[in-house]
Amino acid sequence: MTLPFTDLYGIDNLPYAIASKAGHAPHVVTRVGDHALDLAGLAAKAGGEAWVDAWSQPTLNAFVAQGCPAWSAAREWLRQTLGDASFEDAVASHLHVLDELTLHLPIEVADYVDFYASEHHATNVGRIFRPDGDALTPNWKHLPIGYHGRSATVVVSGTDIVRPCGQRKAPTDAEPTFGPSIRLDIEAELGFVVGGDTEIGSPVSVDNAGDHLFGVGLFNDWSARDIQAWEYVPLGPFLGKSFASSLAAWITPLEALEPANVAVPQQVPTPLPYLQGEDVFGLDIDIEVELNGEVVSRPPYSTMYWSPAQMLAHLTVNGAAIRTGDLFASGTVSGPEKDQRGSLLELSWSGKEPIHLADGSTRTFLQDGDVVTLRATAPAAGGGRLGLGEVTGRIAPARAV
Ligand code: CA
Repeated sequence: MTLPFTDLYGIDNLPYAIASKAGHAPHVVTRVGDHALDLAGLAAKAGGEAWVDAWSQPTLNAFVAQGCPAWSAAREWLRQTLGDASFEDAVASHLHVLDELTLHLPIEVADYVDFYASEHHATNVGRIFRPDGDALTPNWKHLPIGYHGRSATVVVSGTDIVRPCGQRKAPTDAEPTFGPSIRLDIEAELGFVVGGDTEIGSPVSVDNAGDHLFGVGLFNDWSARDIQAWEYVPLGPFLGKSFASSLAAWITPLEALEPANVAVPQQVPTPLPYLQGEDVFGLDIDIEVELNGEVVSRPPYSTMYWSPAQMLAHLTVNGAAIRTGDLFASGTVSGPEKDQRGSLLELSWSGKEPIHLADGSTRTFLQDGDVVTLRATAPAAGGGRLGLGEVTGRIAPARAV
């Protein structure tokens, strides 16, 4: 069958999103090149009855709740159906040009956690904020550091980001002041969508984490560095982060990313036993950070120290339960090189080394009207690469309190 697949969005990719046509209810689609395929409609005609209800919903949660065996079976059914000429007319009748659709937040986010899993990022931040101390905190190589964020302000790619207001106090200021953030930043991350509920008191091991990792979406953890720096001691990030975090519309199944599985960097000292296992792997995903149309950084996810399986094992080791729709982000992805840093804080070294853009302007932190877009690709099963879509957002001016 001839389908409008493209190199990045072919049969080995098949990510999921929630889309709607004007005047119609949103439901689950997959991506065929620059088209979206309505999955519930196709499933009803082509032997996919098991997924029709879940794929008719306005979020991915019902499908994610079905668990790992159902995710695999659905993907296998979809691949077979798209390769079966007898379903050509059924497939064609459910294809829609992406430009004619609105994409929505793909999941109703249950709990949201953000980790800090890049050694290069953590080292850079440590050098910037604690120039006279150790770059890494004493716990960093023993556990994946994280904090619980605000799920209600996770927004879909394309949503404007209103500049947050808050308190800030530079070390040289006598008193705190209030106003729009003047050090608004990005954090280039991946978000992991989690499913398969567990009971309180039942940790998920590293080797069982794969049963709960549904998919990956590009994630921008917008950060107000001035608000963050004044508020975060001693309880961690709060209003400097919770105003907005952007998630890509497209969620790529972990199964599609098997060819991107790589070893994580050597972990010394050896982590405690609950953080060890066969399923400790990283992901060879190449990210691009674009500011106003110009690529300013290329963070390699393969350099991340902690594995997604270790992050999920750590998140639940105290008995915290998993709820379908949980989302955990990796933390800023920064590689060892200067042009691989995933935040403006690092790229401009806390504002001391402005970035020069092609239009002649410079940036330390974001200005109103700036547009930031993250894109990524990874090795695909067929030998080429697959695309992870994009997550984009434009900075809108602060609103008066
Ligand atoms: Ca972050």
